[in-house]
Amino acid sequence: MKKILNYIDGTYQDPTSGEWLDNFNPSTGNIYSQIAKSTPKDIEHAYVAAKEAFPSWSTTPIETRSKIMLRIADLIEANLDRLAAAESLDNGKPVSLAKAVDIPRASANFRFFGNAITQFASEAHESVGRNTMNFTLRQPIGVVGCISPWNLPLYLFTWKVAPAIAAGNCVVAKPSEVTPMTAYLLGELLSEAGLPKGVLNIVHGTGPEAGQAIVAHPNIKAISFTGGTTTGEHIARTAAPMFKKLSLELGGKNPNLIFADCNYEKMLSVTVKSSFANQGQICLCGSRIYVEESIAETFKKDFVAKVSELKVGNPSDNDTNLGALVSQAHMEKVENYIEIAKNEGGTVLFGGNKVSVPGHEQGYYLQPTVIEIDDNKCRIQQEEVFGPVVTIVSFKDETEAIQMANDVQYGLSATVWTQDLNRTMRVSKQLEAGIVWVNTWLNRDLRTPFGGVKNSGVGREGGFEALRFFTEPKNVCITYTDLPNNP
Ligand code: NAD
Repeated sequence: MKKILNYIDGTYQDPTSGEWLDNFNPSTGNIYSQIAKSTPKDIEHAYVAAKEAFPSWSTTPIETRSKIMLRIADLIEANLDRLAAAESLDNGKPVSLAKAVDIPRASANFRFFGNAITQFASEAHESVGRNTMNFTLRQPIGVVGCISPWNLPLYLFTWKVAPAIAAGNCVVAKPSEVTPMTAYLLGELLSEAGLPKGVLNIVHGTGPEAGQAIVAHPNIKAISFTGGTTTGEHIARTAAPMFKKLSLELGGKNPNLIFADCNYEKMLSVTVKSSFANQGQICLCGSRIYVEESIAETFKKDFVAKVSELKVGNPSDNDTNLGALVSQAHMEKVENYIEIAKNEGGTVLFGGNKVSVPGHEQGYYLQPTVIEIDDNKCRIQQEEVFGPVVTIVSFKDETEAIQMANDVQYGLSATVWTQDLNRTMRVSKQLEAGIVWVNTWLNRDLRTPFGGVKNSGVGREGGFEALRFFTEPKNVCITYTDLPNNP
């Protein structure tokens, strides 16, 4: 059986424990590989490799770092089919989605930060009249930790490690133990691209054991984490006594506000995607639909008609819209939320059941599910389901829409559908979210800040925000006169 090894100091290595975790193929429910079960000992080996690589990497000319990163981007592109197939096998997502989005985005992350670092410079400020120059140096932190989730495996893994190494840090990184395959394959490409050994170390294993050891390591000075809010809270508690720098990208329960004056056809087709792309397992999915009363009945009918056309099936088939959920445990969690919604008075307008895919009867397939609900305070409205489930609530007016949209603990993203420019500005300003999309969804320019407010996280990724996170600013103040009255 295929073994997923750690990539430490530029070589693939067995875990020191000699122990392995089972890796399931969600589309069939079969075990298809075994994952290194790393312990604090492996994290220490990765840390030592990173520490030894740091003096050389942090002083490598920016142009050389940039070239290596662009080579990694090229190699990811050249391996598109192989990586997309691996991502689909590991995660259950349609291979067409992995090919169109996940893998191109992983390549774009290395390309973007490989280029961005050439534009990211220390700043100088002259204090005119005081014969003083201030330089703000942006220096790499040292050894940093990156921990990523299973929903967009290589896409989010590279979204962290690319800016970290671009900025001159060396990294100990852990992908999710549920979807380790593409991060494992990345190791070969790093070596082929000429990334010096020890710069990026990829360690596999569980969160509480391997992830915790990264966060608790006294000399790993910063942690960039994407995952659940509860895990984020735990990481913050572990890191606080050591005053580590933290970037936390956490859960979401994102509102999708539909006003009667929207471009209806565009809204309808994008709302199907924002509800069910990647089986609803994107932190940015618009899982709470709020629709203006005057069009609510028409919307429900048209939306359900469109959702009923979605094909749930084998992720390898090109016409599959929804593949498998990532794991048995996750499917059970989502099914449980559907039951909770029913008990809370929700009406299932479509879906709600398992799907048996011919030849893949043991896979983790669920119908896209649409639930109408009245009470904005109930659990299905307040808690993150992270699956193919959306709710619909109608609203009277703009004030009520904003009030319900903001009435949750999360604040990651929001979508607004309207053609009224004044409303666009009013609503965008009042929504409690790190990202607001108007008449679009999942439209990302990598230069823009990405992240959430409230329980959706702390800090921002993207563009120079990520490079700022992965560097320490240092003020150097120089006077160039010996006049006695100069401070
Ligand atoms: P998770 O929190 O269970 O795991 C994420 C990662 O953290 C995994 O690599 C896991 O092994 C590790 N981990 C778990 N416990 C740990 C611990 N105690 N110490 C250190 N590391 C630990 O999340 P998940 O189930 O993999 O992902 C789904 C969640 O991620 C959802 O809540 C989703 O909203 C969120 N997410 C957020 C964003 C964002 O950008 N805000 C993007 C994608 C996913």
